[in-house]
Amino acid sequence: MPIYEFECEKCGEDFEQLILGSGQVVQCPRCGSKNTRKRMSACAFKSGNSFSGTGSRASGSCSGCTSTNCGSCGG
Ligand SMILES: [Zn+2]
Repeated sequence: MPIYEFECEKCGEDFEQLILGSGQVVQCPRCGSKNTRKRMSACAFKSGNSFSGTGSRASGSCSGCTSTNCGSCGG
């Protein structure tokens, strides 16, 4: 299941939320505000910031993350 990172625009809390369907209201677990916004997936950051040195390892394609889950990217 897709888990997205959200950031509360009220208190600045960042948290992860499991999204079961489109249009789901995401509420801040800290202050309860519904004024939240989705952040970029953690995988998106990882793909462009992998370990340097292992040049032969080109498994950075994280294409699966754009749609559903990040399980296929290996973390
Ligand atoms: Zn909040």
